[in-house]
Amino acid sequence: MLFQVGRGHMMLVVSEKRNPDYARRAQRMFEAFQEEYRRFKYDYKIVYGRSIPEISRKNEYVSFVRSIQRGMEENTVRRVGPDDVRFFNRSEYILRELEDIYQKHDLDDPRMLACCQPVLNIRTHRYDTAEALMRLRLDGLGLVFPDQFIPLAEENGYIHVLTEIILSKTCEELRKLIQAGYDINRISVNVSAIELKEDAFCGDITRILDDKGIPGEKIAIELTESRRDSDFLLMKSKFSQLRERGIKFYLDDFGTGYSNMERIMELPFDIIKFDRSMLLASGSSERSHQIVVSLAHMFAALNYAVLYEGVESDSDEQMCLDMSASYLQGYKYSRPVPITELEEYCEQ
Ligand code: C2E
Ligand code: CA
Ligand code: CA
Repeated sequence: MLFQVGRGHMMLVVSEKRNPDYARRAQRMFEAFQEEYRRFKYDYKIVYGRSIPEISRKNEYVSFVRSIQRGMEENTVRRVGPDDVRFFNRSEYILRELEDIYQKHDLDDPRMLACCQPVLNIRTHRYDTAEALMRLRLDGLGLVFPDQFIPLAEENGYIHVLTEIILSKTCEELRKLIQAGYDINRISVNVSAIELKEDAFCGDITRILDDKGIPGEKIAIELTESRRDSDFLLMKSKFSQLRERGIKFYLDDFGTGYSNMERIMELPFDIIKFDRSMLLASGSSERSHQIVVSLAHMFAALNYAVLYEGVESDSDEQMCLDMSASYLQGYKYSRPVPITELEEYCEQ
């Protein structure tokens, strides 16, 4: 059986009973495939394997193959086995829970856990800001980390509701800290670029702040760069609406992949978060070091604050201090902790 699961993506299921020499037949078919795709210049990913007893319906196979393809490079072939089926079942379970969280739209949903990583402010020598990071807590799985559920939530249109829940939980904790007299400047929340496409995006954010009685100045939004021009224009207009409320913006993961300086500077970011890969690069050669130093100095000279992520050791810290750092974040100071433990890092 052959399933088309999107352009250039097919799943081949060969019944072993009917095809005892299945491996040889499969091999011949791949060769034919690869030849066709090369000829027509389509990218392809081929997934093959024995028929799987736990999966019977065609749409389940399609979902299964999609989940495998997510982790594959273009133009590669992969044979699937029992581990892949286990991984798939786990993802399906996570996906059903995400759908349920989305449908219920309960801002106090106990399955969503807000963790927080304190950020050291170099000027004040205090942990007066932090980053909120989401986790899922599911029966039978325990804690589920973002890499295992954020791509699923993004693909299926659930991510914005997850953001609303984390923002609400973050505001709730902020309210308690402020009431107890703790010195906390703000907490940043991660937002996916696709969320900005939701018409209600700005309204949803400000409604949660209003409901919790949190001024915009106490919240920042972290966004990564986007490759598409339409996103850029959208970002610009949504930024200005939220900035009017005092919300700050961080450019996340600077130095990973794509960077368009001209566009970065057109967007009113307050803080540039240098990814850990920049720290690693800086330590790897004198030339790379010079590039990172120059970028950091340039941002600082343009009145952006530079935050280094992934500071793990004393030598990482020292390197950052020599490179225009305003804020430091990483395991050296603290792992992400449940947000209710943030007060241990704040001063009254
Ligand atoms: P990110 O925004 O770059 O978050 C930083 C990640 O680096 C976190 O992983 C954090 O635990 C990890 N980290 C912190 N300090 C260090 C360090 O010293 N060394 C190293 N190697 N890593 C460090 P986490 O929590 O697993 O989150 C992974 C990614 O998932 C985040 O990367 C972010 O892109 C996404 N994410 C997390 N929470 C949310 C959320 O609420 N909404 C959205 N849209 N994405 C989120
Ligand atoms: Ca982030
Ligand atoms: Ca980051």
